[in-house]
Amino acid sequence: MGGDGPKQYRMLAGKPVLAHSLEAFCDHPLISGVMAVIYPDDMALYSAAAPDHGKMLPPVAGGDSRQESVLAGLEALTEISADKVLIHDAARPFVAAETITDLVNGVAAGTGAIPAHRVTDTLKRGDDNLAIAETVERNELWCAQTPQAFLLDDILQAHRRVAGTGQTFTDDAAIAEAAGMRVNIIEASARNFKLTRQEDMVLAQAMLAQPAPEFRTGHGYDVHRIGPGDGVWLCGHFIVAPICLIGHSDADVGLHALTDALLATIAAGDIGSHFPPSDPQWKGVSSDLFLRHAHELVVSAGAAITHVDVTLVCEAPKIGPHRDAMREKLCELLQLSMDRVSVKATTNETIGFIGRREGIAAMATATVRFAGQPQEQQR
Ligand code: MG
Repeated sequence: MGGDGPKQYRMLAGKPVLAHSLEAFCDHPLISGVMAVIYPDDMALYSAAAPDHGKMLPPVAGGDSRQESVLAGLEALTEISADKVLIHDAARPFVAAETITDLVNGVAAGTGAIPAHRVTDTLKRGDDNLAIAETVERNELWCAQTPQAFLLDDILQAHRRVAGTGQTFTDDAAIAEAAGMRVNIIEASARNFKLTRQEDMVLAQAMLAQPAPEFRTGHGYDVHRIGPGDGVWLCGHFIVAPICLIGHSDADVGLHALTDALLATIAAGDIGSHFPPSDPQWKGVSSDLFLRHAHELVVSAGAAITHVDVTLVCEAPKIGPHRDAMREKLCELLQLSMDRVSVKATTNETIGFIGRREGIAAMATATVRFAGQPQEQQR
């Protein structure tokens, strides 16, 4: 494969290839124990890769060849009461749970089972000069995969038979066949491929890649007229002042602008289309309700809020002393941490309607993240 280090310890979607392979077995209800056969020099790599799972057995030191390593593992399994054994290549991280189930159920005394997929390419036999000597009939040909399943006693005896004879076999089924065992084929997906070449690693990464998140930003603006009163609601926080904001609800311009910004991220209209001012049921209500509703719509569309920002524009009251109380209220309403909630304020330099203290305005932006494709939003 090239590159640095053994391929079973290469990182694949945030964890070593071996961790994917081991977890497939640890997570399977028909598997009672999982043992890795490793190079003793790789102990540190193994420890970092092995899942912290109660089914994991201590690793066993392998031999100089695949065949010797498998035999070492089988001998170690005689120490525990193992019945059936599945022998797997660490570099096949995509073994499916159904394949494991089929294999466990397909094993009997004197009978093994292996997963395999049909050969789909046309097969050619080439001569020394790279000329085609013949086309090979492929109808009966299968590509053998792992895990390969047997009764422990059966495959252990078969391995012991050929150990030290100098005969080499490229898989355990071949050793079972040589011992006269029947080995059945269980048709499995070609997804269960062995990471062999660098391009296999690229394919494996692509198979596990999460779709890129989609981010959307919405904007909102609101203004309410100032009248005489005893205080104003801004961003869900009440400030005592000799004024009020005139409106159908509590006239909280901050929450109204932010509600519109959230609705904008899912193109769900504006606050007036969800809570018409003509509807008496919204008279005098707390604007918390509007913001919570917009948040619920965003969540049910499959998005999560990542950040909100509100700018209040007024000559009075002073916002600075109340800024953190407003942020805390927004955090509570939207279930966000403080670093995701911004409240800013400015005066209008005494010009225009805001400068003449006739009204207070607010602008807001909201950013949301869709984990995958946005779901269609019903209205
Ligand atoms: Mg409003």
